[in-house]
Amino acid sequence: MTSPFLEKVPFVDLSWQHEPLKADIAQAVEAVLQRGDFILGEAVAAFEAAFAAACEVEQAVGVGCGTDAIALGLTACGIGPGDEVLLPANTFVATLIGILRAGATPVLVDCHGDTALIDLTAAESAITPRTRAILPVHLYGQMVSPRGLLSLAQRHDLLIFEDAAQAHLAQREGYWAGSVGQAAAFSFYPSKNLGALGDGGMLVTQRASVAQTVKSLRNYGATRKYYHTDPTGTNSRLDTLQAAVLHLKLPHLGGWNQARNHLAQHYDNSLKPLAEYGILPLCNDSGAGHVYHLYVIRVMPNCPIDRTTLQMAVEAAGIQTGIHYPVPCHLQPAFENLGYGPGDFSQAEALSQEILSLPMYPGLTLAQIDRVVSVLRDQVMQASLSPKAV
Ligand SMILES: *Cc1c(COP(=O)(O)O)cnc(C)c1O
Repeated sequence: MTSPFLEKVPFVDLSWQHEPLKADIAQAVEAVLQRGDFILGEAVAAFEAAFAAACEVEQAVGVGCGTDAIALGLTACGIGPGDEVLLPANTFVATLIGILRAGATPVLVDCHGDTALIDLTAAESAITPRTRAILPVHLYGQMVSPRGLLSLAQRHDLLIFEDAAQAHLAQREGYWAGSVGQAAAFSFYPSKNLGALGDGGMLVTQRASVAQTVKSLRNYGATRKYYHTDPTGTNSRLDTLQAAVLHLKLPHLGGWNQARNHLAQHYDNSLKPLAEYGILPLCNDSGAGHVYHLYVIRVMPNCPIDRTTLQMAVEAAGIQTGIHYPVPCHLQPAFENLGYGPGDFSQAEALSQEILSLPMYPGLTLAQIDRVVSVLRDQVMQASLSPKAV
């Protein structure tokens, strides 16, 4: 008999998702092979229509990845050189890269420590006469408040472009992720809530003209074959094979998201006794609408064990964890020329030192969560009995 303490808990497990879909995937691939329409084939248009309907948006356009969805989407919205775009400092760098690729100027904003979502009051203070858009990131699967976004955008005449790469079918205040602003970007990186068997992305929009422009931009700037009207065109199409796989996964997404939300509730409840020791889950302000791309806790300064030591101990017990993200955008060497420095965004900086992502995927069991929590509890209790090393 194996000791439960040797049982590993992976951070994500995609085989749980793919195993039962193997026959469906083989069938979908076979259908594309039969048709031979590998580029912009019928599976792309079919998936675009299904995804747009699921998010309740007018149009969806499949592109090569989420970063391209941001870059091409912003360009299609008319955002470019000279335009300032607000975004949170604590996001995956792709958000920032997408803005730079559109030629616009990223303006970073701090976040709320309890949710890690962009602080809309701080965003409002960062507005200048050149600010054209706000690019909220629905981080870890939780949407930024649509009401807050819409009222800010209305007051300052801003375009809202959502980064929904971590929030497929998340909901808040009656809105689906991607349906709040003029346009939004999704990623189908394999470990996202809806993931391809490779790279993929989607631009969704309420405006037919934006969709039309992205369709041209993703295809060398051509309005029809060999007639090129846009010099910024590129090659960034969602693969037909990937679209076919994503389409067959889409009906399962709601159930998978629900499972993630239930698992998160179990984590939240089980972790409650550790709050007094400085282990705090990020807040869920959107109830069942939070789709928990990641389940993130904070190891607060009053915790008897520091984040790095705790992470190492948890890993040694066979539990995989992550840090999303260890360095906020403004402290990344790549973006030094934006002129930011340490101390500019105190909440984002503090979070980067405190956060720890625990295993989360549909298929994770309650027993596995109990094990993760019991390992955390043991570490914290043990540390609380001995004085903190300095
Ligand atoms: C994954 C991700 C992206 C980029 O998506 P790719 O498909 O990898 O290009 C952008 N923003 C956020 C917040 C992401 O998590």
